[in-house]
Amino acid sequence: TEACLTAIEGSSALNAFVHNTPEIAMEQAKAADARLAAGDAPAMCGLPIGIKDLFCTKGVPSQAASGILEGFKPEYESTVSQNLFDDGAVMLGKLNMDEFAMGSSNETSVYGNAVNPWRRGNDDAELTPGGSSGGSASAVSADLCLAATGTDTGGSIRQPAAFTGITGIKPTYGRCSRWGIVAFASSLDQAGPMTKDVRDAAIMLETMCGHDPKDSTSADLAVPNFEAMLTGDIKGKKIGIPKEYRMDGMPEEIEKLWADGTAMMKDAGAEIVDISLPHTKYALPAYYVIAPAEASSNLARYDGVKYGHRAKLEAGDGITEMYEKTRAEGFGPEVQRRVMIGTYVLSAGFYDAYYNRARRVRALIKKDFDDVFAAGVDAILTPATPSAAFGLGEMADADPVQMYLNDVFTVTVNLAGLPGISIPTGLDKQGLPLGLQLIGRPWEEGDLLNCAYALE
Ligand code: GLN
Repeated sequence: TEACLTAIEGSSALNAFVHNTPEIAMEQAKAADARLAAGDAPAMCGLPIGIKDLFCTKGVPSQAASGILEGFKPEYESTVSQNLFDDGAVMLGKLNMDEFAMGSSNETSVYGNAVNPWRRGNDDAELTPGGSSGGSASAVSADLCLAATGTDTGGSIRQPAAFTGITGIKPTYGRCSRWGIVAFASSLDQAGPMTKDVRDAAIMLETMCGHDPKDSTSADLAVPNFEAMLTGDIKGKKIGIPKEYRMDGMPEEIEKLWADGTAMMKDAGAEIVDISLPHTKYALPAYYVIAPAEASSNLARYDGVKYGHRAKLEAGDGITEMYEKTRAEGFGPEVQRRVMIGTYVLSAGFYDAYYNRARRVRALIKKDFDDVFAAGVDAILTPATPSAAFGLGEMADADPVQMYLNDVFTVTVNLAGLPGISIPTGLDKQGLPLGLQLIGRPWEEGDLLNCAYALE
């Protein structure tokens, strides 16, 4: 813990931690020492980790990297962080992210972006750590903490993991409680671990998940010992390669990474099968209707009354001006864009044309996966991202849709509620990490982690 606290102090240029909690860390570390001395050593005991700013942490600023939650210190602890602390984990501080987890580059954060510790060859230009869990990815990759929590609504664990050379798993929807995690799109949001390797991910996921009566969508299912399932034996497993993920104009190095990963799994005794997920091309448009719709509803609660920031008012201003000024000042441009899109697609005249249609597409995307799994496929192998980490500011002036294209390989998994993991398996020509994604059957994270373990 002390070594991590020193490393964090020396790495402020990464802007990964936005709020340090050294007193809490030292207190938790001492308590962990006492537990260890007493022979009570749960899996996470004494391990220093970072917590994404989207998790409410009791008495500690929790802003979801938004101006509208300025000064907000929750009265409660999120279930996932509580599970980690109950198991002896030590909190070093809160980690940077895109505002309300909306983004793929960490550039929508009110704190300014976190920075990727990796560089292109000898070029000094700073790169994005990805988003939205960019602070978590940067901190784990730079050894500022042993692991971190992340959340993933459309790829926010897996894309930053791929951009920084670490491992990240989004479990099945319902595996982790969402209680106390600031809501973005409630039917898609899931928490998961971001770690240095698959074994760490297995250990941390087991601690994070489990049934929680405070989240009605949390599954009342036993949590397996994921670590015990890491045998590395994938003989006879059927691994599907979906043809729709082979995009036009996909960089050669991503193609090669994918081919190498496929060959590795084959060598390990897996059976490789070509599969089709025909509705893949509709996933991004459906996601960018459903996620903003849910966000516009979830973000209605930030009205200047219940939480955080309230705009200064002038004489004569009424409640409408208070809402308008507070929300105009408190939300950044990307969040405002999502609220507008979401409100539009949910409005009476457009609900059927956009929202209901997107929901029908979502059901078809889920059915594509159901059919493939019913035909005996155990896991699906794809690239995690369409490119390596890009330069900070590079996409800033681009059409926002360009940024949304980053999620092309990851959003299907959230729409279908499936578990997905990103594992670092190679470097591009400039020495930047690249990741592969494995998608598993619902509730079979143990199997999925084992397939990933074989690829590591
Ligand atoms: N990049 C996606 C978005 O902006 C995904 C974000 C996430 O998973 N939280 O919506």
